[in-house]
Amino acid sequence: MSADYRDNLVGVFGYPVAENPTSVMLEAAFKHLGLNWRYLTVEVRPASLPDAIRGIRAMGFKGINLTIPHKVAVMPLLDSIADDARLIGAVNTVRREGDRLIGENTDGKGFLRGVREEAGIDPKGAHIVVLGAGGAARAIAVECALAGADRITLVNRSAERGAALADHLTQNLKAAALFVPWRGDFTPGKNTDILVNATSIGLFPDGGTMPPVRIEDLKQTCLVCDVIPNPPDTRFIMTARAQGHKTLTGLPMLVNQGAIGFKMWTGLDAPEKVMRAALEKAFG
Ligand code: NDP
Repeated sequence: MSADYRDNLVGVFGYPVAENPTSVMLEAAFKHLGLNWRYLTVEVRPASLPDAIRGIRAMGFKGINLTIPHKVAVMPLLDSIADDARLIGAVNTVRREGDRLIGENTDGKGFLRGVREEAGIDPKGAHIVVLGAGGAARAIAVECALAGADRITLVNRSAERGAALADHLTQNLKAAALFVPWRGDFTPGKNTDILVNATSIGLFPDGGTMPPVRIEDLKQTCLVCDVIPNPPDTRFIMTARAQGHKTLTGLPMLVNQGAIGFKMWTGLDAPEKVMRAALEKAFG
């Protein structure tokens, strides 16, 4: 029998991309399942993105992840965009259907899978408060609206960005969305069911920084979530845990979005425990 030494290629394009941890979990998954797949971490400057996408077409990549600053710029370079990714306005995963490249966004889906499966909470009918209005907040808010959240409150420092996201949710997703400008300490309402820090406050090496939010008055059943995967136990998460809240760190979101991409690319269920353990080891 003749050998087949060809590699199935996937990876991530970003600039900067050096600290992107996705290869750690995807390579661990490929190794665990004995798959002849490679996940490449590739620095692509903004002006080179069209060439890089032509490159993945030419080299038959099975898919690619996009990170800063390519998530929006990649959209016109693809053959089609999934409905939710279009509503989010950004693509973080490209999959292949024959010769066609399809843009997807797995960030919000990864968040919701954690809420449902790890925290055991149904976002349908929930009042969700999202701190932030950047890419992660947008993905979470759109998927929560699509999942039937009752109300979404967006709290953001930049009023323009926050109001634009609330308008988008109201007009294009018919969601009950409200924008609250973030001035000083924000106090979420007592009826909040899910509170999410979707800002970059608390990201390594600033894991000890607390977003300006007072969580003392939250009802005890409120789920408190952070998108920051590194460190998983941010001060926000630790504060909520100390007050008896169920919490969800950014780690499950990261693993879940990677697992959803893994399934899109390989058709196989991802070994999520292996992926999570690899990330935990990498984050020390
Ligand atoms: P963006 O730059 O698009 O958005 C950053 C957000 O944080 C904005 O709303 C910004 O407010 C807010 N912000 C930043 N600093 C402050 C501050 N000092 N005070 C108040 N608000 C602040 O980033 P992303 O949305 O792409 O990423 C945000 C975080 O999400 C990152 O840490 C990233 O690691 C994480 N992430 C995690 C994922 C996961 O799978 N776990 C997936 C994707 C992202 P303003 O608009 O006013 O500037």
